[in-house]
Amino acid sequence: MVDNLILTIYKSIPKEANVSRVEYEGPVVAIYVKNPSALSDNFSEVVRKIAKEVKKRVVIKADPSIRKSEKETTEIIKNLVPPEAELVDVKFDEVMGEVIVKAKKPGLVIGKSGTLQQKIFFETSWRPVIVREPPIHSRMLDSIMSHIVNENDYRMRILRDFGERIHRDVIFKDRYVRITGLGGFQEVGRSAVLVETPESKILLDVGLNPSVSFGERMYPRLEIDQLNLEDLDAVVVTHAHLDHSGMIPYLFKYGYEGPVYATAPTRDIMALMQLDALDVASREGRPLPYTAKEVRKELLHTILLNYEEVTDIAPDIRLTFYNAGHIIGSAMAHLHIGEGVHNLVYTGDFKFARTRLLDRAVNMFPRVDTVIMETTYGAQNQPGREESEANLIKFINDTINKNGKVLIPVLAVGRAQEIMLILNNAMKTKQLPEVPIYVSGLLDEVTAIHNAYPEMLSREVRELILYKDENPFTSDFFKRIEGYREDIAQGEPSIILATSGMLNGGASVEFFKTMAPDTRNMIIFVSYQAEGTLGRKVRDGAKDIQLVDRDGRIENINIQMEVKSVEGFSGHSDKRQLEKFLETMSPTPKRVILNHGEPSAISSFYGELRRRHVRFDVYTPSILESIRAL
Ligand SMILES: [Zn+2]
Repeated sequence: MVDNLILTIYKSIPKEANVSRVEYEGPVVAIYVKNPSALSDNFSEVVRKIAKEVKKRVVIKADPSIRKSEKETTEIIKNLVPPEAELVDVKFDEVMGEVIVKAKKPGLVIGKSGTLQQKIFFETSWRPVIVREPPIHSRMLDSIMSHIVNENDYRMRILRDFGERIHRDVIFKDRYVRITGLGGFQEVGRSAVLVETPESKILLDVGLNPSVSFGERMYPRLEIDQLNLEDLDAVVVTHAHLDHSGMIPYLFKYGYEGPVYATAPTRDIMALMQLDALDVASREGRPLPYTAKEVRKELLHTILLNYEEVTDIAPDIRLTFYNAGHIIGSAMAHLHIGEGVHNLVYTGDFKFARTRLLDRAVNMFPRVDTVIMETTYGAQNQPGREESEANLIKFINDTINKNGKVLIPVLAVGRAQEIMLILNNAMKTKQLPEVPIYVSGLLDEVTAIHNAYPEMLSREVRELILYKDENPFTSDFFKRIEGYREDIAQGEPSIILATSGMLNGGASVEFFKTMAPDTRNMIIFVSYQAEGTLGRKVRDGAKDIQLVDRDGRIENINIQMEVKSVEGFSGHSDKRQLEKFLETMSPTPKRVILNHGEPSAISSFYGELRRRHVRFDVYTPSILESIRAL
């Protein structure tokens, strides 16, 4: 560690605190003290002051020698935490010096402005990490937490390595920023962007293309010369959809040893989606190029960031996440490069409008020079949310009145929960008759993870869950099922939500096959249907479809069911929202790079920006083209 950093810390912390050592733990500087109670009067202030002095994130931990025993600590916590908090579990991470306190009402463990949380620290000398026990139990969350605690030695070791690398001295005087699209440029899917400076290399998203099941178009171009996995400093993942995260484990298989930065819901859902993708791929006889072992490694290498938390990720790069409004935990990545010589915003997928589930994406940043922006709906406006909801409800009513069943193929993450909120509200207010809403497969686990992080949901939903004890996701209208069920596909009127959203595999295809020949039934598409998917063909009016089943037999499906598409629920911004996002962005960028769109959407949006005489340069690169941004 740099001597003058340690010196600054010694100078800014009260002597009585008795610092025993200072250590990098990933991007954070951990200060171990032998007498934490010397800081009890103005703890937050001291931490803030040191962070400001050293310009780094700082945590203060107690020296291991003074920590109370686990038994004693558990007793103290049980006495301090009010019963209304509904304490569930207390676990210890000895290596990190942390006590993980799980409660149903974590806010009450934290206390007003963190006072109770601090009190636990001063009385036990363990650093409390407060976790929510969601009302729907999540197996995934449990296994992630115990995996990380079980491997805490390994994790501490890599965090120290990350720290040394992040905080190393800057070597080069010459400055440049080069941006290269490795996937998701002039197309949708396999998103990956390489950002290079003289000091560091960063990957923004590493996705796969879920609408292609084999061949080189499935993966981003990770084989290029500039990308040597040992030289890669960090992977930043904007959200959990597989077209943004699905190839991260592959990096670990081929030699990457560095950190992955993500929000907490992104980490959890991304691992869940990857494990599910491995499962589906091996069942369908087209294995992915990695295994569950690499997913577990990815979990250990992931560093969680909150929105608007500025963090060093390389000697010349600071990362800040901002809410992207796309799915839970989705983030825009803001890179502050070389003490501010360049500022880059990579939007990932974003929604510049409020939805039932999430608040609107942010478009105010401290500084912006270059924006890399998704353009999925660059050519298309969508109807307003209210109109779309009314249409959806009308279509469902029509079908149920005819004694039919409604199939809604949904993406497991995002649209599914949005549609659940709409249906729950419509049934509660009697706009829909009470028929069962079947929620199949992965959706349940994903919904449980939503319940673990209500603070990341829209204000309305957050308030329902946190303060009104009226959790819309656990409402009685929903019936959970494992996967496809013949009796439901053939049964009484109902609404079925099933993955995948584009009918490329999963329970939705099984339900579709059984339900398609019946004129009373209806399929309603509520999300983007990529070119080449079965969903796109059905939506575009195909009447006869051949499907190859698992045994290689060809099945002919005659589509008699009604086919509808309701557009307004997308987690992406439509054309108008994309324009507004740029027009009202503060500050105005100098350069906008359009990605994540089919060529027609990108060229149409490019033309629109030209017609409007926007004040920034617009670029529409293809894969493997580089742009020098500085
Ligand atoms: Zn997405």
